[in-house]
Amino acid sequence: MKFRTRAVHVGNEKCRSTGAIVPPIHLASTYVQNTPGEWGDYDYSRSGNPTRDNMELTLAALEGGIDSLAFASGLAAIHCVTMLFEAGDHIVAGCDIYGGTYRLLHKICNRSGIEVSLVDTSMPSNLSAAIQTNTKLIWIESPGNPLMSITDILACAKIASQAKVLIGIDNTFATPVLTQPLSLGIDIVMHSATKYLGGHSDALGGALVVNSQTLRDQLYFIQNATGNCMSPLDAFLVSRGMKTLDLRVKAQSASALLIAEYLERDARIKRVLYPGLPSFPGHELATRQMHGGYGAMLSFEINGDFQKAKRVASSTKLFQLAVSLGAVESLIEQPAAMSHASYDREDRLKHGITDELIRLSVGLEDPEDLLEDLDQALDA
Ligand SMILES: *Cc1c(COP(=O)(O)O)cnc(C)c1O
Repeated sequence: MKFRTRAVHVGNEKCRSTGAIVPPIHLASTYVQNTPGEWGDYDYSRSGNPTRDNMELTLAALEGGIDSLAFASGLAAIHCVTMLFEAGDHIVAGCDIYGGTYRLLHKICNRSGIEVSLVDTSMPSNLSAAIQTNTKLIWIESPGNPLMSITDILACAKIASQAKVLIGIDNTFATPVLTQPLSLGIDIVMHSATKYLGGHSDALGGALVVNSQTLRDQLYFIQNATGNCMSPLDAFLVSRGMKTLDLRVKAQSASALLIAEYLERDARIKRVLYPGLPSFPGHELATRQMHGGYGAMLSFEINGDFQKAKRVASSTKLFQLAVSLGAVESLIEQPAAMSHASYDREDRLKHGITDELIRLSVGLEDPEDLLEDLDQALDA
């Protein structure tokens, strides 16, 4: 089955007892047994729930994995991965990673004695140089956040495999529509299902997808032992969202490209960061690695200062001022004041996250309306 057929049919079989074309939402926390010690398919919903199982089946089919595990949030999913390791182990992660991942690695994992190094993974040779004898995990993200840096997934996976180190990727921005990292040699694909998989700003969740039964069992053991799973209602919403994932991501990516091209021509803009623009440093690699579009996230710097950027971000009418991303509604944010405000200014500037940087999550509205909205806001 092709991608869109899998999205509609895998994990969405009709209900066998009623014929309902959409599987019912199973809210039960526990399951009745025939006799003590005789277990059915399910015994307790932390350990397994039919609605969550359906969502996991669909996502695994879309990423090309043997199974997936669904968590209460994206960060919960990443936390589960880090719990594979113990004091004295070392993790190498990209420096253009999600802020919450940065906080998890530096403020939580450090408490259990796990060491962390950050490197610019858009140069894979940096990765090789950062691997130590105690390195157990490489964690990458492509495109990065908020600068959209592109990392060569295949090259990183080769380095990891030679060093016998596990490698995981946060595939939230690209989604399985544009990039399927398991086919490039990645061990663990992670998603914030809150974003494109759900796609409608109404569900919170995370997921891990793997290709190895051993790894799946290790992660499942941790998930069940620590009690971190997606609720049935959220799982239902994510399942519904995934049915239209391919259409949404491709349409939103096409709009993002139009907007990036428009902004690049505009004298009010200093530079546009979007992998789909030939002027973008990671463009060639993105063209090789991403299929069907370059994603629906883009950032740009205006000619002006922090205050001017703040006025622009406050003046759009369709782009709503909010963190998060990946839903049908377009969002705008100013990283220096919002998603990356916790960095001190020097550190933030060193990372290239300037005062005048604005990040867009392009939604499903008509791109002409979005362009008109940006045009009027840039005059603010
Ligand atoms: C939102 C996000 C996360 C965290 O996911 P939550 O569901 O908010 O916990 C991780 N990575 C990326 C790239 C994200 O955008």
